[in-house]
Amino acid sequence: MSGAPDLRQIVEQHLCMGCGACAAARPDVVKMIDTEHHGRRPLIKQGTAPEVSQSLAKICPGREIEFSSARNYDEAAWGPVLEVWEGHATDPALRFNGSSGGAVSALALYCVETEAAAGVVQVRARKDQPLLNETVISKTRDEILEASASRYSPASPCEKLADIRSSGRPHMFVGKPCDVAGAARLMNQDQQLRKNVALTVSIFCAGTPSKAATRELIRAMDVSEDAHVDAVRYRGRGWPGRMTVKFRQKGRDDVKVASMSYAEGWGEILQKYTQWRCRLCADHLGEHADLSIGDPWYRPIGDDELGDSLIVVRTERGRRVLRAAVEAGYLKLEARTLGTLAASQPNLERTKGAVFARCITARLVGAAAPRYRGGAIHRVWWRALTPIAKIQSILGTLKRIVRRRILSPEVAHGIMADEKA
Ligand SMILES: Cc1cc2nc3c(=O)[nH]c(=O)nc-3n(C[C@H](O)[C@H](O)[C@H](O)COP(=O)(O)OP(=O)(O)OC[C@H]3O[C@@H](n4cnc5c(N)ncnc54)[C@H](O)[C@@H]3O)c2cc1C
Repeated sequence: MSGAPDLRQIVEQHLCMGCGACAAARPDVVKMIDTEHHGRRPLIKQGTAPEVSQSLAKICPGREIEFSSARNYDEAAWGPVLEVWEGHATDPALRFNGSSGGAVSALALYCVETEAAAGVVQVRARKDQPLLNETVISKTRDEILEASASRYSPASPCEKLADIRSSGRPHMFVGKPCDVAGAARLMNQDQQLRKNVALTVSIFCAGTPSKAATRELIRAMDVSEDAHVDAVRYRGRGWPGRMTVKFRQKGRDDVKVASMSYAEGWGEILQKYTQWRCRLCADHLGEHADLSIGDPWYRPIGDDELGDSLIVVRTERGRRVLRAAVEAGYLKLEARTLGTLAASQPNLERTKGAVFARCITARLVGAAAPRYRGGAIHRVWWRALTPIAKIQSILGTLKRIVRRRILSPEVAHGIMADEKA
C-alpha cells in the first residue's frame, strides 16, 4: 500500500478485520455494524473529513502490524514466550462453560475480585439476535460466566475501549489476536487508555467466520429457515463441546435443540467462511497480549474431559497476574514447554509461514496485503512448509483471489456509502 489510505479504502481492499479500534478512537465518527458476508465493519459518518479517516487508518491493525523483533526461529514462529502452562479454572461452572478449561474467565474473575479491575471487556451473544455478538464490560461472576466460551462469529471488542479511556479505572481486555493488536496500536498513541488497560488476554484464533457461516451451520443441523433461533453455542459445556442451536419451529412454543460436533462444525462448515483478511493474518496466537490462551491439542481429548486451557505468558505483567491468580486459587496449572505449544498448534505455525507467500502473491496480482514488520515470517515459510505446501501457498492464494473476487472492492450493503452513523 502506498500514500495515505483512509478507512474506507482499508475496507474496500478487504483488509478490515472488524476489531473496532477505529470506532474506539473516534466514536463520534465511526460505529461498527454487522454485515452478512464479511464481518463487522466501520460505518463512517457522513461528511467525515478525509484527514480524520486517514488518521483512523493509521491505527488499523488490518493494514499493518508490528511484531517484536524475532531473534531466532522460535520467536518468528511463536512470538515472545516467557512460559507455557496448561490448566483450568478452579470454579467448576467457569471450567464447564468455558471453551477449553475456562482459564480466560478465571483470570477475568480474579482481576475483578482481587486486582481491583473495574471490569472486563469481553464478547457475548446478543440476547435479541443470538447469531450476533455484543461487546460488554463484565463486572460480576455471573456476567463473566455469561460471556464465557468462544463465539465463532464476528465481534469487535475494541469498540468498548472508548469507555475504558474515559473511566479512569483499570480494566482487563479480552479479544482475538487482531483485537489485541488493535488495542495495542490504540494504546501506543493514547496514554490515558494505556493506563486503564491493566491486562490484555488474547484467545488463539484460526479465523473469524461470517454471520452467513452460522446460518449455514444451522441449516446443516436441519433447522428450517423459518424457525425462531433462541440461542447458538459454538463451544463449551464439555471439551471442546458441541455446536448447539436452541430453536422453536414456526408457530410452536416448545424449544428444540439441534447439535453437531465441534470438529464437523468448524472443519466442514465454519472455516470455509473465514474473512479474507484472516487468510492473510500472521498472528493467530495473540503475540501482542500479556497472556494468550488456546487449546492444548497436543494430546487426544477423552470423551469425558472437563477441559484444559493452554496459557502462553508473553510479558512480565502477564507473568505476575497469572502467578497471583494461581496463588489466590482461581486457576490450577501445570508447567509446560514451548514444545507443548508447538505440538498443540502445528497448523497455526504453518499458516503463519504460508501468510508470507500469500501476501506477496496478493500484491503481485494487484490485491492489497497487510504489512508485517519485525516478525521474520519468511523464516517460518521457509522452515515449516513442505515444498508442496510452499507451492500451494501461492497457487491457493491465486485461486481464492479469483473465487472471492478480491480484486473488486468489498462493499457490503452500503457500509461504505455515506450513510448516517
Ligand atoms: C473465531 C475463533 C477461532 C479460534 N481458533 C482457535 C484455534 O485455532 N486454536 C485454539 O487453540 N483456539 C482457538 N480459539 C480459542 C478457543 O476457542 C478458546 O477461546 C480458548 O482456548 C480459551 O478457552 P477458555 O476456556 O480459557 O476461555 P473462556 O473462559 O471460555 O473465555 C473465552 C473468552 O473469549 C471471549 N470471546 C469469545 N468469542 C470471542 C470473539 N469472537 N472475539 C473476541 N473475544 C471472544 C469471551 O468473551 C471470553 O472472555 C478460537 C476462538 C475463536 C472465537
